[in-house]
Amino acid sequence: MEHKMKPESLMMSYGYRPEWSEGAIKCPIFQTSAFVFRSAEEGKAFFEVAYGLREARNEETPGLIYSRINNPDLEILEDRLKLWEEAEDCAVFESGMAAITTVLLEFLRPGQSVLVSNPVYGGTDHFIKKILPQFGMQVMEFFAGMDEQEIEQVIDSRHKTYPLALIYIETPANPTNALVDIAACHRLARRFSEADREVILVVDNTYMGPLWQHPLQHGADLVLYSATKYIGGHSDLIAGACLGSRRLMQRVKGLRTFLGNMASPHTGWLLLRSLETLKARMDIQASNARHVAAFLSSHPAVEKIYYLGTISPSDGRAYHIRNRQCLSYGAMISFDIRGGEAEAFQVLNRLKLVKLAVSLGSTESLAEHPYTMTHADVDASLKKRLGITPAMIRLSVGIEHHEDIIYDLRQALDLLV
Ligand SMILES: *Cc1c(COP(=O)(O)O)cnc(C)c1O
Repeated sequence: MEHKMKPESLMMSYGYRPEWSEGAIKCPIFQTSAFVFRSAEEGKAFFEVAYGLREARNEETPGLIYSRINNPDLEILEDRLKLWEEAEDCAVFESGMAAITTVLLEFLRPGQSVLVSNPVYGGTDHFIKKILPQFGMQVMEFFAGMDEQEIEQVIDSRHKTYPLALIYIETPANPTNALVDIAACHRLARRFSEADREVILVVDNTYMGPLWQHPLQHGADLVLYSATKYIGGHSDLIAGACLGSRRLMQRVKGLRTFLGNMASPHTGWLLLRSLETLKARMDIQASNARHVAAFLSSHPAVEKIYYLGTISPSDGRAYHIRNRQCLSYGAMISFDIRGGEAEAFQVLNRLKLVKLAVSLGSTESLAEHPYTMTHADVDASLKKRLGITPAMIRLSVGIEHHEDIIYDLRQALDLLV
């Protein structure tokens, strides 16, 4: 009987053969700009396939040409990333923002509109709302928490003048873990598609990493990552990734070739190394987060906690969305402390093991103040509506021993009671 290996078992070897590199057990860094063709005919054939001048013949794989177009470290990395969510194709980028902006520019045209959920990552928010309009793209918005009918009304009000071309969502959303229903957005994308204008659904899955939520299985057309976060996982690189069908990814990779925003061979190699421990790291982080959330829920200085694991049946739609979409409660916890900015800063300044820094998904635990840091640029009234208050602290739980993380949080929070 055929035995299908799990992705974590394949991360050390899949897609690489030691005989390519003098028997080296690990894929080396192919720190090279160009690749030598065996003959002029071979070079011609490689370009025909790379530039889509003809279809690849049976068994013909794209040949290596130039590291802006392809490189073994990136191709092997892309093949391994595909395994986690059974995607047909993948492209890696030099940052999460590079992946996000390339997708938006490829699938939107002047006069068309993008529908975006709120809240989204600050960089994404700025690019969609401040930069895309400069190129004639229109923006429609909705809030995580709205139901399908309410979102449909938002589209209906503008769609006639500025046809919808792309739905962009982030779920769970940063920093409140607010949820958006991927399947409902898929239905809306289909409902507003026409023969000559397909509406595509794009999901930023950074908060869940490739393990804890598989948006493609719920109807997303493309899934995006800041690979800087869980995938990289060691706070030592910046990178991004996009996955989806071969048909759509051909367009994404086409634009990447001309924008030249692919990851470097060295970053690709670092990410290959990170992927070997992805499952182990994320398992520990999620398990630690459960302990930390339980501690925070019982601490008198904590007023409210935003964590997927504390969503209950009384939360209604969010409860059902979480159960349907999320395979884990994740490792991101936000919490409001009793008090305001001054008290939140006291806690942050007293942390010793937990580092005071932005970013997330890394081996070390990180804490920050969304109101004045990651979400400083968000309108005050919007922050209020989203529940981002001066009393909120955002925590990314790492792989330290959970008792040490809790010890550190306790000594900082006890100051307030
Ligand atoms: C960090 C982040 C990004 C941006 O990724 P970079 O790698 O910093 O460019 C996008 N979306 C989310 C949810 C993020 O957390």
